[in-house]
Amino acid sequence: MADDTNLADDQESPGSMGPPYQTPKGVHDILPADHEYYTYIKKVVRHRLRQAGFRRISTPIFEFTNVFTRSLGETTDIVSKEMYTFQDRKGRSLTLKPESTAGVVRAYLQNNMQALAQPVQLYYIEPHFRYDRPQKGRYRQFWQFGMEVIGESDPALDAQVIQLAIRILKDLGIADLFTLQLNSIGTPESRKKYIAALQDYYFGKERHLCENCRARLGTNPLRLLDCKEEDCVVLAKLAPSLAQYLDEESKEFHADLKEFLDEMGIKYVENSRLVRGLDYYSKTVFEFWDASLGAQNAIGGGGRYDGLVELMGGNPTPAVGFAAGIERIIANMKRAKVRVPHKDELHVFVAQLGKEAKKKCLPLIMEMRERGIKTVGALGKGSIGTQLKIADKFGAPWTIIMGLTEVREGVAIIRDMSVGTQIKVKFEDTLEKMIELIGEENLDNYSPGELLYS
Ligand code: AMP
Repeated sequence: MADDTNLADDQESPGSMGPPYQTPKGVHDILPADHEYYTYIKKVVRHRLRQAGFRRISTPIFEFTNVFTRSLGETTDIVSKEMYTFQDRKGRSLTLKPESTAGVVRAYLQNNMQALAQPVQLYYIEPHFRYDRPQKGRYRQFWQFGMEVIGESDPALDAQVIQLAIRILKDLGIADLFTLQLNSIGTPESRKKYIAALQDYYFGKERHLCENCRARLGTNPLRLLDCKEEDCVVLAKLAPSLAQYLDEESKEFHADLKEFLDEMGIKYVENSRLVRGLDYYSKTVFEFWDASLGAQNAIGGGGRYDGLVELMGGNPTPAVGFAAGIERIIANMKRAKVRVPHKDELHVFVAQLGKEAKKKCLPLIMEMRERGIKTVGALGKGSIGTQLKIADKFGAPWTIIMGLTEVREGVAIIRDMSVGTQIKVKFEDTLEKMIELIGEENLDNYSPGELLYS
């Protein structure tokens, strides 16, 4: 997320410019400045989902390939061209996870979560991998947070997942940038009839379609509806609408969902061409689209996947979920000029000269940190002047200076870096003086909670 320079896919190794080792195209380091955003987003997600009774799950970064081929569908873009698939040393086919729902369902079954109180509510914050063409907002490793509610079918659950997604986007200051696009794609049976009607409609019009859509017409015709190519968009607009083919059960489910959303004051745009890319969805599908840019910049989406658990070998078990892309969230927070609070700023820089000063400073630094003062000690050999320059670069508001004279006199100098004034205190009073200057309320005394012993 540092920048978008690492996107061109025309070379596998760097040219003559720059250091000899660089990340592969489409992946990037998360540098400290961006980690402030990641940390904040994770906090919001954890907090909001904990409030709603969700518990966190992490599935492995790689799974047996058939976990994804079975669940996502052989003809989907992800499976047909975007997976990082490789063989291990015993020739087994493994794949880096391109999304998390399949792995979560695999875990639900493997860990016998059907035996738990249903629905099981899980969330994740994980990296994913897709061999996609790198471009702005589209990377080969990207992070998503997501939630899954498995084991119960009720439009109130779909409404709740949507509400939580919006709640999180609100906390992140970007909810207003997005519109909720909503559709029902019905049960697999009603979809079959619709797909036949779609194929009928496109029969004879193939030459107007883009190459991609021509290929998808036989394998995954629903995807023709959300193609972004100009001619395909025109044709899709006139195509038969899915709504006409919806079965009664799906219609009723969808009407209830909308009623619940209205009840919660959630606005949505009914979008009959929204289908989502994966085979496993049924009934509800939804996405959050950029209000000004549209579909290309969806920040997240989800839907109901009532058939997936059974498809993966379990008993019929309905489910609904949502996932959002964290890099895109951060890009939008930056676009909206939203900054996040963070606690990385230092309080004190300790400059010292000579071994005796160092001996005094080391325990002081330790004690200051214990008390919640964020402290960096320059423990190298630079002159005091050099160290003060470094202190300036660190941006610490205070510097403690200990030279030979101070050691001899049993004092320490405290320098206010913003104005350059200095005071001298007795060495043994330095810690309390620093706390007074920083203010008790500003100390970094975060506690993860007391450990319990059984
Ligand atoms: P999907 O399940 O494909 O709809 O992905 C859900 C969200 O994850 C998208 O709306 C994006 O925000 C994000 N996402 C998906 N693919 C990528 C990618 N290649 N790079 C960055 N973010 C992505």
